[in-house]
This record gives sequence, C-alpha cells and structure tokens, in this order.
Amino acid sequence: MTEILQLKNVVKFYQLADGERFEALRSISASFEAGELVSIVGESGSGKSTLMNLIGGLDSDFSGEILYRGENIHDYSPKQLADYHKKSIGFIFQNFNLIPHLNLIDNVALAMTLSNVDKATRDQKAKELLTKVGLKDHVYKKPDQISGGQKQRVAIARALINDPDVIIADEPTGALDAQTTDTVLDLIKDIAQSGKLVLMVTHSDRVASHCTRILRIDDGRLISDEQLGTLNVEKEVKKETAKPKNMSLLNAVRLAFLNMKAKLGRNALVAFGTSIGIMAVVLMLALGRGVTTYIKDTMNSYANPNVTEVHRQSMVPDQKQQKDLSSGDPAELSKIQQNNMAALTGKGTDNDFTAKDLKKLSAIKGVDKVEKGYSTLSLGTNSVTYKKQNATIMTLQTMSSNITKSSIVDGKAPKKGEILLDKGTADLLDEDLVGKKVNVTLTLGDKKVEETFTVSGTYEQQGSNFSTAIMSYSELNRLFTANGLQLKPNVVYLYTKNKDNTEKIKDKVKELGFSGSMQETMTAMFTQMLDVVSYVLAAIAAVSLVVSAIMILVVLNISVVERTKEIGVLKALGARRRDIRRIFVSEAFLIGLSSGLLGVAVTFVLQLLVNRFTIATFEVPVVSLTLSYALIGIGLSIVISMIAGFLPADRASKLDPVEALRKE
Ligand code: ADP
Ligand code: MG
Repeated sequence: MTEILQLKNVVKFYQLADGERFEALRSISASFEAGELVSIVGESGSGKSTLMNLIGGLDSDFSGEILYRGENIHDYSPKQLADYHKKSIGFIFQNFNLIPHLNLIDNVALAMTLSNVDKATRDQKAKELLTKVGLKDHVYKKPDQISGGQKQRVAIARALINDPDVIIADEPTGALDAQTTDTVLDLIKDIAQSGKLVLMVTHSDRVASHCTRILRIDDGRLISDEQLGTLNVEKEVKKETAKPKNMSLLNAVRLAFLNMKAKLGRNALVAFGTSIGIMAVVLMLALGRGVTTYIKDTMNSYANPNVTEVHRQSMVPDQKQQKDLSSGDPAELSKIQQNNMAALTGKGTDNDFTAKDLKKLSAIKGVDKVEKGYSTLSLGTNSVTYKKQNATIMTLQTMSSNITKSSIVDGKAPKKGEILLDKGTADLLDEDLVGKKVNVTLTLGDKKVEETFTVSGTYEQQGSNFSTAIMSYSELNRLFTANGLQLKPNVVYLYTKNKDNTEKIKDKVKELGFSGSMQETMTAMFTQMLDVVSYVLAAIAAVSLVVSAIMILVVLNISVVERTKEIGVLKALGARRRDIRRIFVSEAFLIGLSSGLLGVAVTFVLQLLVNRFTIATFEVPVVSLTLSYALIGIGLSIVISMIAGFLPADRASKLDPVEALRKE
C-alpha cells in the first residue's frame, strides 16, 4: 500500500485575544495509506476539526510537518495550495455547505469550474457522480429542494469530482438521522474501497465501528491509534492527472451571473438606481448637443456655404476681450467697446482692409475669389422713400456672393443704378416695389447724399431684422468718389468653388488674426456657453453616481457577509484569492453594465418623447443622443460599479477559509 499522508509532530497554537496562546494540537504523529477508512473520535473541543483543517490545507499556521506524498504542505505556495485543494483533497462538511443559488450539477462541478474544465465535460462528470450517489432524478434542483441526506450525498459527489486521493469528512453524518446515516456511510466506505484515503471525524461509536482504523484524540493529543481491519481495496490505479488550470474570467462572470439571478430583485433595484444617474448625465450631454446643433444650423442656414465673411476685428467681444473686460481696467474696457462699436458700424480705420490684408487673404489655400465689400450700420441717417412712404435703412452694404440667388425672393441682384432691399422694408413701402424707382438718402462720411435708384429685387433677411439696402461695390464706390470720398473695404468675402474648403478657410482666417461674421462669432459664443452649461449639468448629474457607487458598495458588502460560507467552500475547493475577487468584481461589472444599458435605453426613449414634443411645438429636435454619449454612459456606469465593487471583492478574497466555514 502507498503511503499518502504523514503527520510528524504537528503542533497548533491558537492566538487568543489577551495575548495568550491556546495549544489545540500537541505533537500529533501518524501516517495513512490509500484505501484506509479512518475515523477520528474525541470529545467536542478536543481538536479534531483543527487537525482536519490543517491536513486539508485550509490553515497553514502550524509547526511540525504534514507530508502529502512526501511533500510538506507547509512549504506550498498559494498556487500549489490551490492545486492541492483542487485535485488532492475533497471536503465533506457536517452542514453540507452547498451553494444555494447553484443547481446540483453546478454545485458538484464547482471544483472543475475552478479548474476551467469545459462545461460539457464537467456537467457529464457531475451527472455521473450524482447518479452514483442516487440523485439521478434531481440534478437540476437547487439545494433547498432536497432533504438533508440527499444534500450530504451531493456534497460527497462534489468532493469526488476531481478524483482526489484524500477525502476529509468532518462529522458527515452529524446532521443526519440513523437511516440516512447508513446510506451516506456506505457511500463513504465505497470511496475508501476505491483506493482513496478517507479521514472521517465522528461522534458516533456505531459509525466508527464501520471503519478500518480509529484515532482517538483528547485535549489535542493522540491517545490511541487502533487498527480494526482492512478493506478489500480495488487495485489502485492512480493515473497521473494534468495540473489543474485556473478558472477563466468567463466562468467567474458566469458564477457572478448565477448569483445575481438569485438576488434578482435587489440587484435590479440597485441597477435601476444607478441607471437614473447615468440617464441624467447622458441626457444633459445629449440636450446640450441638440441645442448647440440647432443654433449652429439656424445661424449657418442663412450663409452661403461657399463664402467666408471676413472682418478685420470682431464685432462682439471675443474670448480674450471678454477676459480683459472682466479684468476691469476702465481704460482698456472703453477701448474695447469703442473698437467693437466701430467694427459694428463699419467706421474707424482699424476696420479697413489694406492691400496687404487682401493679399494675405487671397493667398489662403482654396480661396478662388476675394470680393471686397462694405457694410455700415447707422441709426436713422439713411433712409429710402417711395412716393410718400419713408423707411429707415439701418444697414447699408455691398452685394456679395454671400447673398445667394435663393435668398433673393423677387427680382435680381443690383447692378448700376440699382438697389436691393430686404423684403420687410420693401413691403413697408409698397406691395410690389421691384422695378420701381425709390429715393435713397445716405450719409457718406460727413456728406449727405441723395439719389434715385431702381429697386432690382427683394431678398429674405438673413440672421438679423435690420432694414437693409444693398448695392454693388462699384456703384457705392462711384457714390463715394463723386462726393470726394474714398471707399475702403471693411468686409471681405472669400469665395471657394468647393464648399468643403470653407471650414479650413474659416480656421485660417482666424489664424491670420481676422474675424468672421457677427453670426459666427455669436454662434461660437453661444455654443461655448451652452457647452459649459451642459457639462456643468452633466457634472451635477454625475454627483448622483457617487450615491450609486456607495449603494453598490453596500449591496456587495452585504453579499460578501451573506456568502461568507460560500466563499469558505470555494476556497476549500481550490479557489484562489484572485478567483474570489474576480467573481465579486464581475458582479459589480454586471450591475454596472445593466444600469448603463438601462440608463441609455431610458435616455433614448426620453429623446423620442421630448423630440416629438419639441418638433410639434418648435419644429426642432432638442435632444441629440450620439453613439459616443451612449458609450460614455455605459462606460462610466461600468467603471463606477467596478470601483465600488473592488473593496467588497478584496474583502471577500481575504476571508480566512476556516473562519468562513465556521460561520453560522
Ligand atoms: P473539535 O474536536 O470539536 O472539532 P476544534 O478543533 O474545533 O474541536 O477545537 C479545538 C479547540 O481549539 C477548542 O478548545 C476550541 O475552542 C479551540 N479553537 C478552535 N478554533 C479556535 C480559534 N480560531 N481561536 C481560538 N481557539 C480555537
Ligand atoms: Mg469539530
């Protein structure tokens, strides 16, 4: 017979709280062979369980030697110890310690799951063993659907799944009645007969009398070692099995999933709570984007996409000026205001383009044509008269490609002796003004000029409601020259044949220190403000995610406490710290994933509802959920949950298996 296990002067002290040490085992020596059915008897508190835990490798804090096939398990690395649990030792506990949310097959197959054996193989092996212990018809039941005797038979099957050499049974019949005790005992006897070493702690003399050997322990000492007989052991064929593998991430996720399914209500509630925060964040971002897009579209819809309007300086304070304004230096402040005003009214030499400027602009890549232009804003000095009707002209500007054919609703662009009026102003003067002669009064420089023009057409106002008169640049130039004045362009239109160039041209214009149209500057300011607002709102919404994180932390902590025993069982079956941590982090991941998906789904539904409402009222969709926002939401949810799950997972992984198993 082969010697499997040897104990040499094994001594175990328990460290007590008051600094004292309690000697639970005093120099135990014995050796065991395959095919032995050893019962270990002794009074309660004599040290039987302590000894079993040491042999089983659940407690490595001892002195002396425990040799398994000649190797001292005291020297095992954590990895070797996990392998020892997986394939050398099978545990059977008094209280069965089955995992309640797994069915019998999954319970039995657990050690194989931890060794990453594929599902088909482990299910088949588990079914085989369950059939052997007489539970063929119950394999898909959960532990709470079977009797105590049946549970212990499941536990026996579980201990055998990886075909270990040593079975440790700590009072396996302690919780069973006489009849079921016999069935279980027969099974245990069969195990020993098949060539394994069975160490069985028992209180019952009747149970002990079935064994081949009895060890008596009293007060931590081995007081007798009595051989009763031998079993007719089947020829031992110990096949060299491959080293067990580690549990895969997928299996950890599966175990996590099965547990979450068992606690569905609670987990759904947590996921729902978290999803509200995620929904708020994603909705704020989507709303910000929707409104920004709307503003940009509205502003840009007025402009010719092939044209870039250029000013020498901004008509509204730009970002840098905003900063200077808020710095509060009064001199600087009024200078900026003066400049802005000059830019707006088209006066002041700072706004006139020089020949050098025009050269710079025409050199921009993609620009096919540079059109000079002039634009001035006046309050009440310019006007147009038809018959007795008089209208004030607020904006006088020159014709450019920026005014597209489609925006001219009636008539055509102004040529020599002609003027184009905005439709609002034209309608004010006459129902049908196109082709008629009007009297135009203009203030050019400090001269008042009066001339008759033919109305060439009317056009739809773009972006502003100012009454506007438009004439060709050469016509305005003629007026200036005739009055001894010189016309200098204060606005330039860059035309490109391919409108895809426009964005780049606009960027280049800014790079060269020029400014875009007023609408553009305003849009930029607006959208920037909106961006800030929507980010701030999203950040506020994100605060609720902190609450979610704490909620997940609490729930997983409760889960760890509830499942302390299960964690003990997993460790006894060979789960490493990493495996335990993975299971719990996977749970957090699943909570995060489901709340992220839920949050995004709710946002999507809200988007449909809100947009349906706003389209009906303002003809505009205001919520714009993009794939990247959805992914941000889901990612955020997962990250937060996993961070929250890490502490409980770490706590679970560090549980001492002996203490965990002792827990009621
Ligand atoms: P039993 O033979 O009933 O299984 P145990 O091995 O559980 O006995 O316990 C042996 C002795 O060690 C008992 O006196 C018990 O109180 C003590 N003991 C067990 N575990 C601890 C512990 N973690 N800390 C201190 N003392 C312990
Ligand atoms: Mg005990």
